[in-house]
Amino acid sequence: MDTSDRPTHTPIYGFNAEKASIKKSASMIERLMARLNKKGPLHSTEPDKGFCWISSHRKVGNGYPQIMGPRADGTNALQCTHRVMWEHINGPIPKGLVVMHTCDNRACCNPAHLELGTQADNVHDMMTKGRSRYAKPLSFAELALIQKLRSAGDTIARIAKQSGRSLNTVRNAIRQTPASYQSDLFGPPPLTA
Ligand SMILES: [Zn+2]
Repeated sequence: MDTSDRPTHTPIYGFNAEKASIKKSASMIERLMARLNKKGPLHSTEPDKGFCWISSHRKVGNGYPQIMGPRADGTNALQCTHRVMWEHINGPIPKGLVVMHTCDNRACCNPAHLELGTQADNVHDMMTKGRSRYAKPLSFAELALIQKLRSAGDTIARIAKQSGRSLNTVRNAIRQTPASYQSDLFGPPPLTA
């Protein structure tokens, strides 16, 4: 391997000034495009929308890859890569709206997989796609356990915490009678729990 073109300075903690200045001179969208794998998985529900474009930028906190660059007001900030892509194609994201993934892949930046929605749409989408731990309907076993804890005197808040369910789900579960919960489709509740 030819090492003659390596920088002569010593990188400090992995920081490479030469690379950094190249990075700075390229626009945010160029830097984003350079780190997209356009042969990601096929769109999870609509394969005709093609492959996910997976960003390899570092994910921060919320699970979305982020890239540093200028915002509309000129200040630099970490921004979600899918939002940067959407704005590059469509212009500024209208106030109060969010950019959602129809493919359910948070690292995806394929503009064909992104659409605008409200935060409520996004939460609804998440629930119906089962990304939320509250999305699954209660099983007979869970229902029986919640009712057992309640009749033993546990508070709704404690039961919710223990079962990983919302307060409302627990309240509803307590109100259910075994008869109302039973369904011909699912058969009798299991004997476990
Ligand atoms: Zn996608």
